[in-house]
Amino acid sequence: MTSRRTRLRLLAVPLAVGALLSGAAPALAGGTGAGPGQGGPATADVVTTTRLGGQVAALTFDDGPNPHDTPRLLEVLAENDVKAVFCLWGDVVRQNPDLVRQIVAAGHTLCNHTMHHEDLATWTPEAVRADLEATSALIREVAPGAPIPYFRAPYGSWGQSAQVAADLGMQPLGWTVTIEDWETQDADVLTERLESRIRANPGAVVLLHDGPVMDRSGTVEAVARAIPELRAEGWRFHKPDRRG
Ligand SMILES: [Zn+2]
Repeated sequence: MTSRRTRLRLLAVPLAVGALLSGAAPALAGGTGAGPGQGGPATADVVTTTRLGGQVAALTFDDGPNPHDTPRLLEVLAENDVKAVFCLWGDVVRQNPDLVRQIVAAGHTLCNHTMHHEDLATWTPEAVRADLEATSALIREVAPGAPIPYFRAPYGSWGQSAQVAADLGMQPLGWTVTIEDWETQDADVLTERLESRIRANPGAVVLLHDGPVMDRSGTVEAVARAIPELRAEGWRFHKPDRRG
């Protein structure tokens, strides 16, 4: 890929899925809801499902936006009338402000994914809070007034961040399944993974990627193929739950 895409490559290799799902904090006291999330009260409970059960899935896209693949992804979602969640990486928000505005204008939901996509496992609550506030402020600088109801820790490595996010009014957002789209961009492989894993996990939050660290055309193509096929089987696409 281009050098532009390789600059951030080292930061984006996800951990094993098992480790990702182990960091859920218990549902403790809710946050104030008055912070940068502006999405109402949130809790420190890491959400990994849609609010509705049955044949429902929530599509979430991490590490973007990027000028190579996010425009086509937005077209695909619009053509299929599907709303998704975009977990935005501050550094690339700064590089692609118009795309952030397009995501918001299209009615999708924003999620804070930190400023530099670092592993928060050992960060103090104060350091996490400063990063999350700066990231939300940057997103609002380019998309004034946009709600940011979710937060997702890079690599699913939550550390203290779930409670901090809740205190800032952002629901920690985990996931049920991934399609491991960092391993391959073969559209046939990714389409099969996306369809089979959604079918096997009703109510799933699905983790996909549209970040600029590598080619994402296979991910976008898989979404374009899977949505109409799953719809024909009765599946619907909704937002993840919020526990507030
Ligand atoms: Zn990420």
